Amino acid sequence: MSLTRLIYVSTITSEFSLGDIDKILESSYRRNSANNISGALYFSTRYFMQYLEGDRADLEETYARIIQDRRHANCIVYELEPIEKREFEDWSLAYIPQSESLRSLNSRFMQSAQFNPYDIPQQNVFAFILELKAYLPRVYLEGLTC
Ligand code: FAD
Repeated sequence: MSLTRLIYVSTITSEFSLGDIDKILESSYRRNSANNISGALYFSTRYFMQYLEGDRADLEETYARIIQDRRHANCIVYELEPIEKREFEDWSLAYIPQSESLRSLNSRFMQSAQFNPYDIPQQNVFAFILELKAYLPRVYLEGLTC
């Protein structure tokens, strides 16, 4: 087993509609659990950023499937690195939608409060993911009160 993390970004296409989020999450929970993959998916109005961790062969197989998905395009891998430990071990895929509290985080890592993952310098992407993780409980609470 070679524990690895994969971080990529992508843009939705005309084949994507908001209702696809639930389908993507359903497939991901099922497939990632079966493959012992954990991670997080951050989605704004146009962009995805996904962090996945697991055995390298399983990650590569999963990513090969993901990039075939016509609901998004312009996939760019920011990191494919060996790791010592998991960051999202309790999540087959933590879903993080854009929220008001994340705008200040966007501003710190990008040039604007609007999320555009292609604007994050590659060396800062993992730090951004770790900060997202710290926001997770608050994001979920906001979602519950909306
Ligand atoms: P099913 O779950 O049976 O497919 C469910 C439905 O999804 C299909 O009926 C169809 O409507 C739609 N669908 C499936 N594949 C495609 C496709 N290629 N193009 C358009 N519509 C399709 N999968 C994972 O396993 N793990 C992940 O972490 C993961 N993350 C994703 C992140 C993003 C941003 C996107 C866009 C997709 C992600 N997926 C992930 C989904 C992945 O791309 C495949 O769709 C999925 O793995 C297929 O699973 P399945 O064969 O069991 O299909």
